[in-house]
Amino acid sequence: MYLPDDRPAPPASPVSLNRAHWTNSFARLGEAFYSQVRPTPFSRPTWMVHFNADAAALLGLDATAPEWLTWLSGQSLPAGAEPLAMLYAGHQFGHLVPQLGDGRAIMLGEITNPAGQRWEVQLKGSGLTPYSRGGDGRAVLRSTIREYLCSEAMHGLGIPTTRALAMVGGDEEVYRENIESGAMLTRLAPSHVRFGSFEVFFYRSQYEHIKTLADYVLAHHYPELQDSAQPYQALLTEVIKRTAHLIANWQAVGFAHGVMNSDNMSILGLTLDYGPFGFIEAYQPAYICNHSDHEGRYAFDQQPSMGLFNLSCLAQAMLPLLHEEPEQGAEWARAALGKYQTQLVEHYAGLMRAKLGLREAMAEDQHLLQGLLDLMQANQTDYTILFRRLSEFKVVEVRGTHPTSQIRDLFLDRPGFDAWGARYAARLQQENSVDAERRERMNQVNPKYILRNYLAEVAIRKAEDDKDYSEIDILYRLLQRPFDEHPDYERYAGHPPDWATGIAVSCSS
Ligand code: AMP
Ligand code: MG
Repeated sequence: MYLPDDRPAPPASPVSLNRAHWTNSFARLGEAFYSQVRPTPFSRPTWMVHFNADAAALLGLDATAPEWLTWLSGQSLPAGAEPLAMLYAGHQFGHLVPQLGDGRAIMLGEITNPAGQRWEVQLKGSGLTPYSRGGDGRAVLRSTIREYLCSEAMHGLGIPTTRALAMVGGDEEVYRENIESGAMLTRLAPSHVRFGSFEVFFYRSQYEHIKTLADYVLAHHYPELQDSAQPYQALLTEVIKRTAHLIANWQAVGFAHGVMNSDNMSILGLTLDYGPFGFIEAYQPAYICNHSDHEGRYAFDQQPSMGLFNLSCLAQAMLPLLHEEPEQGAEWARAALGKYQTQLVEHYAGLMRAKLGLREAMAEDQHLLQGLLDLMQANQTDYTILFRRLSEFKVVEVRGTHPTSQIRDLFLDRPGFDAWGARYAARLQQENSVDAERRERMNQVNPKYILRNYLAEVAIRKAEDDKDYSEIDILYRLLQRPFDEHPDYERYAGHPPDWATGIAVSCSS
């Protein structure tokens, strides 16, 4: 575990909270895009469950300021905030829901840090909004802990994501399948605009708002595209690419999102809205992390095609902008979407080559990888542990008659692994791979620590039962540095215990 002084340096002169620079550009779009609504604080006392000083540094603000709790519990509104709930629509499990919106997340506004970077500050679980439908506007501590830890874990893994600034708890009861404790999560992102933010205006035939929103996204988040000959086409092209890369990242690390509805897809290509997500453990490509997803629509191996479905929803909503002639616009969009699969596959191939420690691309690599994945599936091998241990592979070792290694022990079918190992060794020799060098490279891309469901569950139980947040802090710190060795925390990198197989993660949050 790294020492406190090993953390990223705080800003040279953190600004006190009441001098934060609020620049609420989204609020300037006008009320067609949101509803003004103030957070509803809990009626009972609240306290800080965890605070992410690194995220406070993103805002350039003083992490030690006492005002954070009153701000982030919705008790007092910072001067300069203009709270609002964003409007959007979405395709949920394939079905259009023409009117959604933030039913329990309220954006306080945007803070621009001293470097000029703008961050939207959202309180999730902060009470009813005009879009709450039948919901209570609240979030439970359990799901808040999961989102908080996973967004920071994804950041630690180098995967684009919204960030988490803080978690506030309270003695507020929230009714789900059981009575649970409520909590509020503060989420940060340069923008929370979703594919569904465009869709809502398409289905209402409010094409002028689609243009306003696209211009806004271009100006604030893709300024380099503004001067292209066809800025809206350039925008869609870029979103397609970012989404392809994002999902390639998910597939490579073994992350299943669980609810890839188009309202949970970020226009910036960020991982957004953590619900019943899960990391693959015993490898199974058809892994379904969301126990409410009976058909497996969002199974792990469906994510690439669900990404394309969602991009098609976005492209349709953007059609009025793509070309004066709708048919030509549609033709252009089809061609643009046609590039998605290649972009995803190529990015994924590069990531998996790196996970295997291969420097050069060779024709047989896909077969080699598939051979390993097939073996892992047949042997129920833990995805993260296998790739981490694979860095210990020695080219000569498998060539011997008694290759004993910790890697081989991960397979019941040892001869099967030996046969694959011989292919792998031959492939490594083709590029004169040096064991020690390869090991170092592989350990930088194959995480040792991931947010296993059972690890989150232990932290949740301690927090719920005893208001003990120590486990949250341990995971937070480990997952910030998932590629490093943390010798005192070795057991967090091991196989899940038997009881973990019984954990069910539902949509309810
Ligand atoms: P999700 O499945 O979390 O992406 O949520 C889908 C929609 O339902 C979003 O518009 C949420 O804001 C809304 N929603 C989810 N839970 C609640 C809740 N407890 N109260 C109000 N709205 C909610
Ligand atoms: Mg959502």
